[in-house]
Amino acid sequence: MNANAPPPASATPARPPSVESLLAATEAVPSLAAYGRSAVLHAVRAVLADARSGGEALADTPAILARVENRLVDENRPSLRPVFNLTGTVLHTNLGRAPLPPEAAEAVSRVMLQASNLEYDLARGERGERDDHVEGLICRLTGAEAALVVNNNAAAVLLVLNALAMGRETIVSRGELVEIGGTFRVPDVMMRAGSRLREVGTTNRTHLRDYAEAIGPETGLVMKVHQSNYEIRGFTAEVEEAALGRLCAERRVPFAVDLGSGNLIDFSAYGLPPEPTVREAVANADLVTFSGDKLLGAVQCGIVAGRREVLAGIRRNPLKRALRVDKMTYAALEAVLRLYLHPERLHERLPALRLLTRKAAEIEAQAQRLLPKVAARMGERARVTAEPCASQIGSGALPVETLPSACLAFRPPEEGRGEGAWLKRLSEKFRGLPTPVIGRISDGALRLDLRTLEDEAGFLAQFDGLDRPA
Ligand SMILES: *Cc1c(COP(=O)(O)O)cnc(C)c1O
Repeated sequence: MNANAPPPASATPARPPSVESLLAATEAVPSLAAYGRSAVLHAVRAVLADARSGGEALADTPAILARVENRLVDENRPSLRPVFNLTGTVLHTNLGRAPLPPEAAEAVSRVMLQASNLEYDLARGERGERDDHVEGLICRLTGAEAALVVNNNAAAVLLVLNALAMGRETIVSRGELVEIGGTFRVPDVMMRAGSRLREVGTTNRTHLRDYAEAIGPETGLVMKVHQSNYEIRGFTAEVEEAALGRLCAERRVPFAVDLGSGNLIDFSAYGLPPEPTVREAVANADLVTFSGDKLLGAVQCGIVAGRREVLAGIRRNPLKRALRVDKMTYAALEAVLRLYLHPERLHERLPALRLLTRKAAEIEAQAQRLLPKVAARMGERARVTAEPCASQIGSGALPVETLPSACLAFRPPEEGRGEGAWLKRLSEKFRGLPTPVIGRISDGALRLDLRTLEDEAGFLAQFDGLDRPA
């Protein structure tokens, strides 16, 4: 070590110790050596290169080792990790949508560590169907005759369009040519699926006769799309699914409903605004497509449920193979579907529903309980208050309905200018915590909606890390 002692200040700029001597030094530090020689070597080189490109004369071995360790800690932190979603949007697409119940996590870990009967019929000892693990449950819960699972609902729609309407027309109301988010626009998906869009009606009004006039020899499919993330109000008319279903049956063309949020239960029974259920749609349509990780509260996947003979054709489409899901998805989906067999306890056991059905009074009490603790931890750095707010369901379900909730609101210690920058800095600090805390800035405050906060102790523990440099 003495050999690396810094030279007198007047000398020429210090040269960094050699990589070899640094590596030797790391071997004496167990917390560094634990990363293994090649990872340490990589980090040492990166730290020296950073210093060099920054024009910094980094010569002190302990200082270099400290940076090497920081770098290794950073590199080894998983990129995908848990956060506190306190945005007020319960099913937040960017934050992974539905949280899963422990039953699902256990089911996934059981099948991921060893071989499973994913596509193996144990009774017959021969090849089986992966959809068999959930098809019976989906049928029982929706009244459908058959069901299959693909990677997400966008994939389900693509598959249905391709299987039933490739090279032919798909009839859709102009009021339903929606963009769901990201790059999912109904007309684009239709084109990629090889189907020609046949628009009927107008943006605000579409009648049964519009569909009746459009159906012809070129028709491959009639599709109704749930207007997930917006609502048209005023002078509007939309054709009832039941009437459209009867028309399609008479004219012998398949009828599909893209529900988006597939809820398996009547939400109004839990005091929530009503949403169409999969069972209702299945009663009227040949096929219904919906997401696994929206209101259903399970993992990312897309489900196609409906009539047996229509599904049989879809199953044979090569896209089904390309869009199929992994054993972990089936395990989690099956575990969640089983919870639905006990609807009396569903709102306790299914996290998405538990969060959506929390009462405003209970969240308000939580805000009052947390307020003094959080305010004490923030000290002089912020003014913290407990306030009412409105949560959203998210993921396109019930876009205009909100759920009364309560939040902790953070404002700068003194009113005045620079508020926007202060709020941005505080959000950044919260995002830099060991378990990042994600809120939302509105009306001059950073708000943490407590509807989705269940782990209070874990949340409070985050504030102890607030002073650590990010
Ligand atoms: C959300 C949604 C989709 C896309 O579902 P993903 O599971 O996100 O792929 C498609 N259609 C409708 C109506 C939707 O609401």
